[in-house]
Amino acid sequence: MCGKCCRSIVFYDGGDLIKTEEQFEKAKLKNKRMNMFEISGVDSTDGALTFVCKSLREDGKCGAYWLRSMFCREYPFIKPDFIKNNGQTLEGCGYSFGVDKEFKDYL
Ligand code: SF4
Repeated sequence: MCGKCCRSIVFYDGGDLIKTEEQFEKAKLKNKRMNMFEISGVDSTDGALTFVCKSLREDGKCGAYWLRSMFCREYPFIKPDFIKNNGQTLEGCGYSFGVDKEFKDYL
């Protein structure tokens, strides 16, 4: 409930990370829900634009809790691609993940 994940969102459009305002404008035309976000910065690791949700309140809580998307409801559901692509939770996040068993233990 800190709201960090609502301030550091990255989006893909057609399989590519959105890195420019022009890409963002095109993505908004294809998906009206993108209008719920505005650019908050640039990710230093890959140059992707980061977005903040317009529903995020000053106190870090969700202003659209009952209407929030499935993505928000499932967070932090971790997909295999997230781990393969070296995904990490944000610093200070209350959620964390790791392997349940070392590879050698499966042998
Ligand atoms: S809808 Fe709520 S939970 Fe989802 S990103 Fe926006 S503020 Fe965060």
